[in-house]
Amino acid sequence: VVSGDTSYTGKVDRQRLWDRHLTLAGYGALPDGGVDRQAMTPADAEARRQLVAWASDIGLTASVDAIGNLFLRRAGRRDDLAPVMTGSHLDTQPTGGKFDGAFGVLAGLEALTALAEAEVATTRPIELVIWNNEEGCRFPPTTMGSSAFTGHLPLDQALDARDRQGIRVADALDEMNRRTQVADTRILGGSLFAYLEAHIEQGPRLEEAGYPLGVVTGIQGLRWFEVEVLGTESHAGTTPRANRRDALQAAVTMIHELAARCSDREDILRFTVGRLDVSPNAPNTVPARVRFTIDLRHPDAESLQHYGDLIAPLCHELAGHCTVAVHEQPVSQPIRFDADIQRLLCECADSCGVPYQLLPSGATHDAKWLSLIAPSGMLFTPCAGGLSHNTRESADPDDLARATQVLTAALKRLANDV
Ligand SMILES: [Zn+2]
Repeated sequence: VVSGDTSYTGKVDRQRLWDRHLTLAGYGALPDGGVDRQAMTPADAEARRQLVAWASDIGLTASVDAIGNLFLRRAGRRDDLAPVMTGSHLDTQPTGGKFDGAFGVLAGLEALTALAEAEVATTRPIELVIWNNEEGCRFPPTTMGSSAFTGHLPLDQALDARDRQGIRVADALDEMNRRTQVADTRILGGSLFAYLEAHIEQGPRLEEAGYPLGVVTGIQGLRWFEVEVLGTESHAGTTPRANRRDALQAAVTMIHELAARCSDREDILRFTVGRLDVSPNAPNTVPARVRFTIDLRHPDAESLQHYGDLIAPLCHELAGHCTVAVHEQPVSQPIRFDADIQRLLCECADSCGVPYQLLPSGATHDAKWLSLIAPSGMLFTPCAGGLSHNTRESADPDDLARATQVLTAALKRLANDV
């Protein structure tokens, strides 16, 4: 149901939006239907080139900045005003799907196409942005393009990062720009009026609750720990229990107890031990050293602090005859999205007749960095089974189209707000 002043959202074309997802998925296509389009590979460059071609059909102008973020700009009546920006990323994990990142880019393109077809002019310019290297799996860190854009990652450091073959970002970027054939460059950074990002949820909540749309309240915070347990290497056959300093037994006790303590009734806290390195990792030797990682996430800063602070004391308490060291990586604080933007997105969902649920994001997104420099918000669509970072990632064409209608309405409102 499309009402009154939002008639232009009726120009959002469900089939075109869907077909473009399938076309993009051809760049880096895997035999099982998934996508391997890691940042700054030839496939990434070709996908960008396709996008620039679609964008030029509706008169958008393309430019790239020094870290490889690609901007497609629709002029405003007052083109000197700060733009409204929307977008996401086109790079994927090595075994990625068709929608993570691509949806936010294609939703933005479809919104601008709908506005163009409805001949709707806006006061502010609107820019569609493709953040470079969001996934960070080829070149760490994640969200490289958006964190450099917002000044949180030094450009030199980003350009100097290398992949496992020793290729530098600076060189991979030159090669990508050459293939993409975007000649215009722009200054890194800049001010914007607001930022919106559409994305698949990458979790099961919307699907389980039966909502086609999520208005995202924020992005949960993350604490990373590495725990090193040290014991003594000894013979598995000859060492009595009392003489053993078995680092693996101690680590297992720690993991078991930490997992029990880090399970909240509401099931909001996320606790993961994803890596376990055992040394010497031989069947007949008592393990002398174990390292394991802890990934801990919660949308609320105080809860994240509370649970994270349990880890080191508990590990020391349970070390037994072993010794233990707990190292923490820098914390990623939880983000709360701008309240006015959340309200605007809810109003636009109402006016487009799309039921929605408010929910926090479990995964990190480029919008995290943008929210530090401009009012920002996100829209989520359900993805089948909550699966993402998986070649079987799937979404419903109707859900994608409805979220894109809401995005279109919100972009128009923001771009006329002066
Ligand atoms: Zn993503």
